Amino acid sequence: MKTLLNRFALPIGLAATTWLLAGCQSAENSTGGSAPTMAVVGSPPTKETQAAMTPQSALAELKAGNARFVAGQPLKRNLPADVKATASGQYPFAVVLSCLDSRQPIEIVLDQGIGDIFSARVAGNVLNDDILGSMEFACKVSGAKLIAVIGHSNCGAIKGAVDGVELGNLTGLLGKIQPALNQVPADVQPRDSKNLEFVDKVSEANVRLIMQQIRERSPILREMLDSGQIGVAGGMYNLATGEVHFFDK
Ligand SMILES: [Zn+2]
Repeated sequence: MKTLLNRFALPIGLAATTWLLAGCQSAENSTGGSAPTMAVVGSPPTKETQAAMTPQSALAELKAGNARFVAGQPLKRNLPADVKATASGQYPFAVVLSCLDSRQPIEIVLDQGIGDIFSARVAGNVLNDDILGSMEFACKVSGAKLIAVIGHSNCGAIKGAVDGVELGNLTGLLGKIQPALNQVPADVQPRDSKNLEFVDKVSEANVRLIMQQIRERSPILREMLDSGQIGVAGGMYNLATGEVHFFDK
């Protein structure tokens, strides 16, 4: 017998609870296979569970999801059932802007399934009017509670910007990263792509600038942020460990 627990069914502290209960799955094999076990099953948010979430609980769920991913204990999912459940509507709790990089598939590393999050991916996780409009749709129209901007270590786009690479349409994209270079203290040397400390500091500065730009460039999102309807969070994904470090502020 399996006990199914929807991770959105619990109100406060659900994320941590879900993650802890996920450990129950491992008991299945150690008890001879016949004992009752508990499996935590992921399922898409509903209108009610989305409405019950806050910017804080949305961030907690992203953190818990990454912890599940790092621990190798993702939620069990019935994806065909989730497809059917979301066919007539979606109620994602967050919108995430992250890099194009193939090593950072954001739903996987945050252990999120169908219908959980809006995902915008572009090299260097840069912001533009279309992505800003997508965020406005996600939050104002579809009810997402959190905007998360997640850069990553050893980012090729950041390296390109650091080295002043020019290549077709990529030139304009990398130009959007240039302001972040000036945010890194002058004593971080050398300032080229071979210095991964500098590259990662630029990447983090880029995320922080984008967080500011979201507020400055979108009156709709600024009003929602100021009234506490939504929150914005930034973080860095570590390609070597699989961990997302979310900024404290
Ligand atoms: Zn990247």
